[in-house]
Amino acid sequence: MVFKTATEQLIVLKNVSKSYQQPNGQQIVILENINLELRPGEIVALLGPSGSGKSTLMRIVAGLIPPSQGEVIYHNRPLVGLNPGVAIVFQSFALYPWLTVLENVELGLKAKGEAPDSRRQKALRMIDIIGLDGFENAYPKELSGGMRQRVGFARALAVEPELLCMDEPFSALDVLTAENLRFELLDLWLERRIPTQAILIVTHGIEEAVIMADRIIVLGRNPGRIRADLPVTLPHYRDRKHPTFQALVDRVYTIITNPELEKIELTTTTSVEPATPPAKYQSLPSVRTGSIAGLLELLEDRQEKDLYRLAQELQLEVDDILPIVEAAKLMDFVELAEGDISLKPVGQEFINGGIDERKQIMRSQLLANIRLVQQIYRLLEAKNNQRIPEELVLDILESHFSPEEAERQLKTVVDWGRYAEIYGYDEPSGQIFLEQVVVSH
Ligand code: ADP
Ligand code: MG
Repeated sequence: MVFKTATEQLIVLKNVSKSYQQPNGQQIVILENINLELRPGEIVALLGPSGSGKSTLMRIVAGLIPPSQGEVIYHNRPLVGLNPGVAIVFQSFALYPWLTVLENVELGLKAKGEAPDSRRQKALRMIDIIGLDGFENAYPKELSGGMRQRVGFARALAVEPELLCMDEPFSALDVLTAENLRFELLDLWLERRIPTQAILIVTHGIEEAVIMADRIIVLGRNPGRIRADLPVTLPHYRDRKHPTFQALVDRVYTIITNPELEKIELTTTTSVEPATPPAKYQSLPSVRTGSIAGLLELLEDRQEKDLYRLAQELQLEVDDILPIVEAAKLMDFVELAEGDISLKPVGQEFINGGIDERKQIMRSQLLANIRLVQQIYRLLEAKNNQRIPEELVLDILESHFSPEEAERQLKTVVDWGRYAEIYGYDEPSGQIFLEQVVVSH
């Protein structure tokens, strides 16, 4: 057991929460009670579904936005304003099109007040290290996506940040370019060719996290909170085919696909004890009913139940398949255990059915399992004309979600309910009505 002194931590987040005020005056909680330490010598991956607050958390670490509650401690002092030890690489490259590669790389140094001579020298050195030699005077538009992201890396690394923050830095690149850059960055890190003390990488890719990180922090959604903090002790460079690698990927999959499991403590046991979940408003993944049917059909007569390999086989990204799996699980069509997915009998029935039976089954599954569908149904039944304005549903949703997310939730619940013929939606008036009622326009 290593004794840790306080100075060993680079950045500490203490009980950090972030909420925003909604236009209707309500507070919406994005991040809740985050406690996190970033220590020198580690790559930490911040992993979670989209909307779980990863970017927000990274921005708080960087001092771009302040927490609503709690504090960020940097070198044992509360952080005020921008974090001077942090540089960021964004997904979208964020380069100035009217500046050359060299000028773009010099930007961060200029902002730090470096003298022109030394900033040119440092920029050129980093351009060399990062493999941009010969492109100093090129403009961003002349470069491929991969080369542009190299500029993003060079610009961030040129200031020699203590902590390099990266927000999905490889996700705008094609698969091969992304893989190359990942390993090049690992090379630089492992060979200590960059003075960076720690790296925080935001990602929604489980494999990416397991390839790169020494520690994986899994964020959950609604509100964003830490669900697991998993060490990765496999030596670099990691082999995706190695059983330990795959076991870890499976484990993370299990955690992410079981949002109802409470915080997973770091234990030696592989099984996770489900604690009683706190009452949270159900969040509907925005998925079409057709995709859910597609997934169920795919699972029929299938030997391969491993979600991760299934995704690989289908060449789907985690972010593509997870919402569909989540929706199927919410509707109780499938079961998930240890990274394996299987059809429940009602899922099988659904597949066997024709269009009418499918709608009927979907109707009972939605009414039995989806709280928002139940709420809408009850509201409709309570009304004499069996119609409600969509604003009423939005009002309910906006106490739990941001305005855009509330819109998304509404759209999803309308799609699902329409398919199942529970209620209809009258486009011009924005009203939801009970299906039995015949509407005349
Ligand atoms: P991630 O990076 O994990 O996809 P984000 O941190 O970008 O998640 O966002 C988390 C949630 O916070 C989203 O629902 C988003 O709509 C909401 N959000 C982010 N910024 C703001 C803001 N300035 N005002 C209101 N809501 C916000
Ligand atoms: Mg993000």
